Amino acid sequence: GSPGQELRIVLLGLDNAGKTTLLKRLASEEVSTITPTQGFNIKSVHSHGFKLNIWDIGGQRAVRPYWRKYLGSTDLLIYVIDSADQKRFEETGQELAELTEEESLMGVPLLVFANKQDLVTAAPAAEIAEGLSLHTYRDREWQIQACSALSGEGVQDGMNWISKQIM
Ligand code: GDP
Repeated sequence: GSPGQELRIVLLGLDNAGKTTLLKRLASEEVSTITPTQGFNIKSVHSHGFKLNIWDIGGQRAVRPYWRKYLGSTDLLIYVIDSADQKRFEETGQELAELTEEESLMGVPLLVFANKQDLVTAAPAAEIAEGLSLHTYRDREWQIQACSALSGEGVQDGMNWISKQIM
């Protein structure tokens, strides 16, 4: 983006992935919650020259038409995965695949946080990348970053990658 322009980031993932915990690490400023419709909750944060919208995806087919409008003019997509929740790998992979097919997200850089790496049962980031077939993504820059939103480890590395994408 050009200087002075607010960067629009959407942060998505299944419920319980660690989005809210991550959000608190990324932005210490005020978090305002708006509820546009039908129990569809978006948290919106302005911080350090970016606007971050976050919400849960998955199991929400009925509200998809409502959240789609929040994807317009997105500069960057952050997708959060609970690396220790093997039972939901397929579900989260499916959601990500569908998301990256959204027209408004074509070519938008993708950062995947393989979160909860502090748990001994966490799958390594490389294994998650493999499961998500990230190497098949040709139309966008992508990165997988192991992290723990709880301890903060790896979060800054992810943000460094983000700053390289937007410069
Ligand atoms: P959200 O539903 O995606 O917003 O997930 P939350 O941020 O609310 O986190 C869901 C649960 O996972 C909470 O109990 C968090 O404390 C926990 N959690 C989030 N990130 C981590 C992490 O990196 N490691 C561990 N061990 N727990 C985490």
